[in-house]
Amino acid sequence: MTSAGWTIDAVELGLLPDIPVEHIYYQDTSGRTLNMPLIMYVLRSGGRTVIVDTGGPADEEKILRMTPFGYVVPESNRIDNVLDRIGVNPADVDLVINTHLHWDHCSNNNVFANAEIVLQEKELAYAHAPCEAHMPAYGFHADEAPIFSLAEDRIRTVDGSCELAPGLGVVPLPGHSPGSQGVRVDTVAGTFVITGDCVDTYRNFDESLPSGRFSDLDAYKASLAFLRETGWTPLPSHDPKVLEKGQFGQ
Ligand SMILES: [Zn+2]
Repeated sequence: MTSAGWTIDAVELGLLPDIPVEHIYYQDTSGRTLNMPLIMYVLRSGGRTVIVDTGGPADEEKILRMTPFGYVVPESNRIDNVLDRIGVNPADVDLVINTHLHWDHCSNNNVFANAEIVLQEKELAYAHAPCEAHMPAYGFHADEAPIFSLAEDRIRTVDGSCELAPGLGVVPLPGHSPGSQGVRVDTVAGTFVITGDCVDTYRNFDESLPSGRFSDLDAYKASLAFLRETGWTPLPSHDPKVLEKGQFGQ
């Protein structure tokens, strides 16, 4: 396959502080905690900009609705300030890809008013009727529509692997959620895959270790095995090391 020479920027949209590690590493009983950044990926090729995942809300009241523990969005990490800093006009973005519809990955889809939003058909179907235990993750709260519905009229679903542009495609990575997907990005420095929560941190990938949050553990393990076989370089969803490097594929 010829490389389309995409570049990848990873930017922080907030921080989930002091997350117990049993949520991140399956059956971890160490009692430790980790800080997990919310990461948005910005892909650019030629004059085109594509966004992968759009983080959580930044307003105090909405934050507390999403998670009782709260999370932190400093002024500099609000999505409008982040986009400004990296030179992206949200109106120019014509494609947003959600790895899945948990609130910390899709809450700002509406910022990209002219974009088509691509996700797996299975994920959208499940997001409409999750089991009770999964409802908070999809942003369901008593008296209001779930957060993903903000830009639902612009969603286009796909079923399975598919190419979205030269050098850019999606692959199903079920297990963390029923319709989780990865985003394959070809660059001059090789092929990367934005993993969503199939891989929270590099350690999950290195040890083929699922997180403690899943809808199907066997499917999750199969997705991790698939990723390792591809030889693609993983870009995890919540690892601070991703942000330390910040730029990939150039
Ligand atoms: Zn998730």
